[in-house]
Amino acid sequence: MLKDNLKEVEANIMTACEKAGRNREDVTLIAVSKTKPVSMLEEIYAEGIRTFGENKVQELTEKYDQLPADIKWHMIGHLQRNKVKYIVGKVSLIHSVDSYRLAEEINIQAKKHQVTVPILIEVNVAGEDTKFGVRPEETLRLVEEIASLENVRIQGLMTIAPFVEDPEENRVHFRRLKQLSVDIDSKNIDNVHMEILSMGMTNDYMVAIEEGATMVRVGTGIFGARNYANAN
Ligand SMILES: *Cc1c(COP(=O)(O)O)cnc(C)c1O
Repeated sequence: MLKDNLKEVEANIMTACEKAGRNREDVTLIAVSKTKPVSMLEEIYAEGIRTFGENKVQELTEKYDQLPADIKWHMIGHLQRNKVKYIVGKVSLIHSVDSYRLAEEINIQAKKHQVTVPILIEVNVAGEDTKFGVRPEETLRLVEEIASLENVRIQGLMTIAPFVEDPEENRVHFRRLKQLSVDIDSKNIDNVHMEILSMGMTNDYMVAIEEGATMVRVGTGIFGARNYANAN
């Protein structure tokens, strides 16, 4: 039962918050529903979840059309510039901005829709070759560049930590992202507010919360393992 999975995740989030002396309200659970059928999202929606994360534009827009309008859709996957136009106006946060050119395209589409699009800068904290994201030492410069775009609002940082057996191994990366966020915030850049730290997935969200995550992205822990063989 997805309800039981959700209960367990909720209990873990509470435990991590208590351990870190943080309030439960300061951590948003994003239910990562990629590859999962609409019926499963409905099941979780019935339990009160309103924030869903998807990593593919087409899947996000299809689910958007079929599910209630009070859902907040988060784009958490790598985004191509030519697909930005399909999601602006539908997503409440884009987690995966790692270049000025992408931010510029989001700004163009946001202007057309007369909206401001909240974004996070994706940082490759561990320096893995296989990952998207800007390097930590280039993050401040990118933030400064993007800050000049009128219809884009930088709200924080996101990272996808390495896949590790022991989540403790990722503590150092979460701590580094938090520190980077504090450093950037201290520059008081116009139009930039480092309020969101999106870090932690099924394997390591408790450690991420202890290190200051304000959004955790949990897929497997709620919906069970993904079967990519059946996915399109
Ligand atoms: C798939 C995905 C997740 C969720 O991963 P789980 O390990 O299933 O919790 C989180 N963030 C991003 C960016 C993802 O693509």
